[in-house]
Amino acid sequence: MQQTPTPKTALVTGASRGIGRAIAEALAAEGYRLYLTCKTSEKELTQLSHRLSENFHVECTPILADMGDAKAVEQLFSQIDDLTLLVNNAGISHIGLLHQMSVQEWQRLMNVNLNALFYTCRLAVPLMLQRHAGKIINISSVWGSCGASMEVAYSASKGGVNAFTKALAKELAPSNIQVNAIACGLIDTDMNRHFSEEEMEMLQSEIPADRIGQPSEVAEMVRSLLHAPSYLTGQVIGLDGGWQM
Ligand code: NDP
Repeated sequence: MQQTPTPKTALVTGASRGIGRAIAEALAAEGYRLYLTCKTSEKELTQLSHRLSENFHVECTPILADMGDAKAVEQLFSQIDDLTLLVNNAGISHIGLLHQMSVQEWQRLMNVNLNALFYTCRLAVPLMLQRHAGKIINISSVWGSCGASMEVAYSASKGGVNAFTKALAKELAPSNIQVNAIACGLIDTDMNRHFSEEEMEMLQSEIPADRIGQPSEVAEMVRSLLHAPSYLTGQVIGLDGGWQM
């Protein structure tokens, strides 16, 4: 008698909107059983989960969890018994001069953008080791390698994400777990809504591809990584229309 294969399971953080939602949609289409998180957008996350379950016939569990809070992440993982893919996507930005940023704002941003990767990976890796297989994909930014004025904390957090990715990839390669990051350029999401139309046009004019990227393109990149050779690990892959090469 043929055994039914165990479904692949993924956790996508920050899936209520933007890039995370597009990644969740792409993974549902790939047949993944999903755990989706966000911090406050309960209605949007629940609606997304229902839609994906209905359209793709996959199990989809929405969970509100602050990824910048170690205890909340522990509680989240108490509901997860199997994991083949972790997508660390949840993130926040902060625009302003560094000397006007408060210590609380700095710590909050670091908690959500960088410390969260430690909180999730320390609990995800043992589940992947059980299978001797797994993939971790971190959503980073072009600013992580070249830095942006008025976004020092954000740039530092994403620089940390890049180094975290490379170091963990080395640690986990012998266990057949691949760790990569996607360093996005300007992507059309709520994160950039504070820019005026004029500012967006100016930014766009600096991008060789002459357009802003779409969340679906980041999701497509995640999908490519799922099917990439397992020899591809420790990479920070730029997805930026040629902006920051
Ligand atoms: P959005 O602001 O559109 O969405 C952010 C998502 O993260 C939401 O689902 C939000 O949940 C969630 N989130 C925020 N804080 C927390 C938290 N503490 N705990 C759990 N979930 C949280 O952003 P994007 O889709 O644009 O960004 C996604 C990732 O892509 C981020 O890591 C960002 O840094 C990165 N990126 C984005 C770029 C862009 O141009 N958009 C460029 C480069 C990188 P809720 O709805 O509950 O607030």
